[in-house]
Amino acid sequence: EAKAEKLDRPVVFDRVLRDKAQRRLYVENELRDVLSRNELTLFYQPIIDLETEELRGVEALIRWFHPVGGMIPPDEFISVAEEMDMIIPIGNFVIDEACRQLADWRNRLGEHAPDNMHVNVSRKQLEHPTLISVVEQALQKHGLPAGCLHLEVTESMIMHDREASIATLNGLKKLGVKLDVDDFGTGYSSLSCLCDFPIDALKLDREFVKKSDRDREVTLIHALIILAEKLGLEVIAEGVENTEQLALLQDLGCCLGQGYYFSRPVSGQDLEESILVGLGTTSPVAKV
Ligand code: C2E
Ligand code: MG
Ligand code: MG
Ligand code: MG
Repeated sequence: EAKAEKLDRPVVFDRVLRDKAQRRLYVENELRDVLSRNELTLFYQPIIDLETEELRGVEALIRWFHPVGGMIPPDEFISVAEEMDMIIPIGNFVIDEACRQLADWRNRLGEHAPDNMHVNVSRKQLEHPTLISVVEQALQKHGLPAGCLHLEVTESMIMHDREASIATLNGLKKLGVKLDVDDFGTGYSSLSCLCDFPIDALKLDREFVKKSDRDREVTLIHALIILAEKLGLEVIAEGVENTEQLALLQDLGCCLGQGYYFSRPVSGQDLEESILVGLGTTSPVAKV
């Protein structure tokens, strides 16, 4: 406190910083044995074919249910896990669990299972020498064709160490896995990454969709959709929250979308129930 006064800075600011630091320390300590305590689970958010409004795939989104701290969101702990190198075992868990869940749905729901499972990977995972074999083993263990697994990477991640990233992404492509650029349009060098990296799909960042009531944003989204089409890439719009946005994206020829309008991320159990409830109705995915 004395220090804060000397710096002529409000004491309250210091307390906020300290609380944040304490919170981070708490998260860091609790993360160490998070896997053995089975506190991590995956939620799934539907990715929808915008033309037919049918379920096409799901994105696996990690959730940490801490017995005391409650639900700790990924934005709060993924970066901490990266700094402590816990992201490797956590990331391995995510890849294995996502593959297990998709294989289970394919076995039990048959053609009603989602076609694709999208999994986020962090920069540390992409840089780690075992990523390709971890993915290969998970696919093998659960008997999944590689083409149903999409790995989501961001522009800034692959631009960080271009040569190494290209090599790893090529290795993953050789397995048959698909590669998506997540949060597309928010990073640097967006356009060159479309040519230099072996990618299959663009996930348009939800900021574009959020601002799609403005003419310039509409023009930009439209141009990106055309560009992607010419390059043979699929486009997934993130953050679709209302009918106006859906109608616009349909008008612009955007093939796929995800967002609260269709469903929030839900547990595997809830997703499965919504698929089963939707069977026999005109819209196979019930709103969750
Ligand atoms: P992301 O991969 O871009 O995931 C999309 C985020 O947007 C998710 O937040 C999702 O819940 C949220 N979202 C989906 N639809 C809407 C919408 O209509 N409106 C709004 N406002 N938000 C929407 P979530 O689950 O909190 O995840 C945040 C980020 O954490 C993810 O962003 C991803 O970068 C990271 N993350 C999540 N799970 C994993 C994981 O298993 N591994 C790694 N490395 N990162 C993960
Ligand atoms: Mg993602
Ligand atoms: Mg995303
Ligand atoms: Mg995103």
